[in-house]
Amino acid sequence: MTDQGSSRRAQVTSISEQLREIGEDVDGIPMSGPLVDSYDRRIKNLRISITDKCNFRCVYCMPAEGLPWLPRAEILTYEEITRLAQILTGIGVTQIRLTGGEPLVRRDVTELVRMLHGISGLESLSLTTNGVLLGKLAGPLAEAGLTRINVSLDSLVRERFAEMTRRDQLEQVLAGLETLERYPSISPIKINAVAMRGFTEAEVLDFAALARRKPYVVRWIEFMPLDADGNWERERVLTGAEIKAILERDLMPLVPIDAEASSTSRRYRFADGVGEVGFINPVSEPFCATCNRIRLTADGQLRTCLFSIDEWDLRGPMRAGASDRELADIFLEAVAHKEKKHQINEGEQFQRASRSMSQIGG
Ligand code: SAM
Repeated sequence: MTDQGSSRRAQVTSISEQLREIGEDVDGIPMSGPLVDSYDRRIKNLRISITDKCNFRCVYCMPAEGLPWLPRAEILTYEEITRLAQILTGIGVTQIRLTGGEPLVRRDVTELVRMLHGISGLESLSLTTNGVLLGKLAGPLAEAGLTRINVSLDSLVRERFAEMTRRDQLEQVLAGLETLERYPSISPIKINAVAMRGFTEAEVLDFAALARRKPYVVRWIEFMPLDADGNWERERVLTGAEIKAILERDLMPLVPIDAEASSTSRRYRFADGVGEVGFINPVSEPFCATCNRIRLTADGQLRTCLFSIDEWDLRGPMRAGASDRELADIFLEAVAHKEKKHQINEGEQFQRASRSMSQIGG
């Protein structure tokens, strides 16, 4: 941890000391204990980026020429990822999502899924992908124990898809989705589209039709200031409320579905009961108060918020021989300092995150 939060650090009672008092203090074995931050948010959800590389170059995420990739030696091995995941499930994490970059470009990704699937206490193992390699990997992923999936898809029109991703591969993504449908153990299938003003409006009804025709939940996620090019502007954010208004005006009313308190998405069913859509509105309706997520980057840094300026190094201590107990202590300390909220809406005060979306793991 660098500077931010150091003033608060003094106020946080040593969590590990508290845990030592209530748990069995067996050296090297993490105690089961609550991973709770200083705003009483119980952390259950871990996003693990397994690579910073991607085979797409989405305009809202990565520059056309790519980014300087992390050296291989800096990237956590599957054994290291599994060890950290085991420690975290020992202290309260119950859901893990693999992401990137593009997670499916990392060699033998199904092997990692198999290793994580075996962790006791893990209730959900999911993956976020651009879908282009699903034709080949959906079956092996299902067989390895993947339980949920999000596929990112911004357009159903070939030229527009290519404009957004800088890759002409819509057909492969749609074929990958078809393949996925053959593996019901991976459910639900969610489709995420980044909502950008001037682009997304044109296909809102087509995506709604997809959600009604196929077993896919379609969700729109507001464009966030996490693009590597730094082109984000508030005017370019098409809000969830605006998309909902288009659907209700041109199609039919939407009926809210009760969601878990920690859910990031506002979920709705179409009034005739056919199809589900959702809106993830981090800009217009921040959900920080119920955020239960932390993120591990491909190079082993823990981020307690998408917009964190600081990170907590796990790779260094792990490679220097830290025990499970010591690594658990770093997690507990980091979570104790989890940011109250992001500051996208605080005007001048907003500072861009220290890395862009593909380097963090969205
Ligand atoms: N490559 C995978 C994929 O395409 O889903 C996983 C990584 S990608 C960074 C994760 C998600 O972040 C994708 O749904 C992507 O659309 C979204 N994303 C990337 N940049 C974004 C931004 N600036 N605002 C909102 N969402 C963004």
